[in-house]
Amino acid sequence: MPADVDPEDYEDVWVFIEQHDGEVAKVSWELLNEGRKLADKNGERLVALVMSEDGQEIAEEAVVRGADHVLVADDPVFEPYRAGPYGAQFRDLVEERNPDIALIGGTHTGRDFAGRVAVPTYAGLTADCTELDVEEDTGLLLARRPTFGGDAMATIKCTTHRPQMSTVRAGVFDPADRDEDREGEIEHVEVTVDEDDAHSRIIDRVVSDVVDITDAEIVVAGGFGTEGDFSPIEDLADALGGEVAASREAVEEGWAEPARQVGQTGKTVRPELYIAAGISGAIQHLEGMDDAKTVVAVNSDENAPIFENADYGIVGDLFEVLPELTERVREAKG
Ligand code: FAD
Repeated sequence: MPADVDPEDYEDVWVFIEQHDGEVAKVSWELLNEGRKLADKNGERLVALVMSEDGQEIAEEAVVRGADHVLVADDPVFEPYRAGPYGAQFRDLVEERNPDIALIGGTHTGRDFAGRVAVPTYAGLTADCTELDVEEDTGLLLARRPTFGGDAMATIKCTTHRPQMSTVRAGVFDPADRDEDREGEIEHVEVTVDEDDAHSRIIDRVVSDVVDITDAEIVVAGGFGTEGDFSPIEDLADALGGEVAASREAVEEGWAEPARQVGQTGKTVRPELYIAAGISGAIQHLEGMDDAKTVVAVNSDENAPIFENADYGIVGDLFEVLPELTERVREAKG
């Protein structure tokens, strides 16, 4: 930390309002709700930060949802999102305004640029938080996040560095309620970045319609044992309201999209329930799912390694077991 930084000089709780094509990510409204509580406890203002080609409308919505003050950086350089301009503008504002706390959604976007703010400003950044509070006596941010593979929760506080930054998992807080009568100040700030800060040019954007399996509470994964027929996997996932995932074998065979691959070179999931069907349990696969709360394995080979990592094992043919499970789930749900 630079010698001249005094935590006393830092105030306000900032929330980054993430938007793409004018549509605000829900996590931003969730963070405004939680940020409001922190700001009230600390007697600080809740400040929203919008970066967009034209952020006035979003800024007005941020006021309706609880912001006392909104900083808006309007410039075409912010559309579409690129880490360079976002990180540099956020950093410049942090250096100019000294926020005490800065909250950013733990989305692809948030995770992408948060480090570009935290490193040059010497901020304390806690990633992937699931609970936030402030310490009664000191007003320090208490950022809680799962640790040891989800078996324990760590409370992390940053006693000296500022701002106290957190990226926060989507879906853990309720979104802020709207109150049309709320009043707040909207300030269009000086844009301090330009195309030179982008270091990249967007030629095309391909937006995947695949849901992010990392957020799913229930995951049903299929492997090479499906022999290319994922319908029992899809049916069970549908009955349970979960997401379909796959091993690398299955993805390489073209039976599932790469975004659904679980494992070392795929996604890491931490669902409440992970059902692995026709998956042997290679170490590279386990790496992506061994934090699941409950693992159910369905495999025709009783010696398949997956059983050593499962809470419940069913030795059997997935084409018989899964349809029966699906039927039972549907019956139970009425
Ligand atoms: P298999 O190992 O072939 O297993 C198929 C299983 O299906 C068998 O256990 C079989 O008994 C069972 N089965 C067959 N028929 C049925 C049936 N009718 N009913 C029930 N069970 C049946 N793998 C990943 O998954 N994710 C990764 O991210 C990943 N990254 C890797 C990175 C590296 C650097 C390397 C080297 C490998 C990686 N792998 C990854 C590959 C990994 O090592 C395994 O090859 C892969 O996980 C095996 O996939 P599988 O279990 O679907 O197939």
